[in-house]
Amino acid sequence: MATEAFLASAGLTDEVVRRDAKTNLRKAADVLQSGGLVAFPTETVYGLGANALDATAVARVFEVKRRPRFDPLIVHVHSMVQARLVACYWRDTAVELARRFWPGPLTLVLPKSDVVPDIVASGLSTVAVRVPDHPLALALIAEAGLPVAAPSANTFGSISPTRAEHVRKQLDGEIDLLLDGGPCRVGVESTILSLEDDVPLLLRAGGTPLEEIESVVGPVRRQRSDPGRPTAPGQCPQHYAPKTQLVLWQDDGSPPASPRAGLLTLCPPADPNQFAAVEVLAESGNLREAATNLFAALHRLDAMGLDLIVAVPVPDEGLGLAINDRLRRAATTKKQ
Ligand code: AMP
Ligand code: MG
Repeated sequence: MATEAFLASAGLTDEVVRRDAKTNLRKAADVLQSGGLVAFPTETVYGLGANALDATAVARVFEVKRRPRFDPLIVHVHSMVQARLVACYWRDTAVELARRFWPGPLTLVLPKSDVVPDIVASGLSTVAVRVPDHPLALALIAEAGLPVAAPSANTFGSISPTRAEHVRKQLDGEIDLLLDGGPCRVGVESTILSLEDDVPLLLRAGGTPLEEIESVVGPVRRQRSDPGRPTAPGQCPQHYAPKTQLVLWQDDGSPPASPRAGLLTLCPPADPNQFAAVEVLAESGNLREAATNLFAALHRLDAMGLDLIVAVPVPDEGLGLAINDRLRRAATTKKQ
């Protein structure tokens, strides 16, 4: 199918995105097909993509990200047909979840088929797969005709990129092409669910609320993370972290004010002048909106050269689960 037809069928309406896509989409597909790296937008965060069937290309993703090889990648596909190519066994719950939530921010961990090189799955017998809900991502995967292995387009452990400028700042010169699709709509990474056993297991909270998943498949087990043996990087105790020290304000009441500190909070604080900077994630308290703004707010605070970022946890429901998870991991990092 011609690029123009992909864009039309993908409902790509934004003029800026359309222009960038038209110019660069075929180029990006060529880069992927010849073993190069393309950073591209998804609805969650920007991904750093390589041909998932090319072990050498995937090895470069690990190098560029400085990502440990034990930390497997998510394979992005454009359809159920392509998903069946990379994952060889689908229990009924897996099919049901894919039907209900794809395209969307839900990653399913399923038995891996042999076409996927071991490096993608870090030697595991399973593979993580999802269909992203972004017209540019879908058009790219379709145009390349390949499943695309793509972790977030940042260096390992740092704040995830939700805008093209975040990618440029960290990886400029190290990738072959960047597709600019504007800000990411969801703003936090996908929810990861293992379907190896009968009862689904939550490996990482993310853009698809757990409550919605449970309304389809019943109770989901939650894994207590073992920092020594992460099965998902979301389980690494240090992740998603700014360079500035970040502390979580766990107590009730107002966080301690400081002229050298920035505040990251869901709703406006009583006295914003007590801080050097205040990032309000969602005036209305809406957790979806807060997730969309989370990483961009962290990037901004981190660029200010503050002594400290004080983050106030959000309600632990809906997308709040993913937001609090990211804040906890950002908080464990020591000042550099
Ligand atoms: P990200 O860096 O956000 O792309 O993270 C990809 C996520 O998928 C990580 O949490 C990986 O550990 C997880 N993942 C990928 N493949 C597997 C797998 N086979 N089993 C468990 N988790 C996986
Ligand atoms: Mg990441």
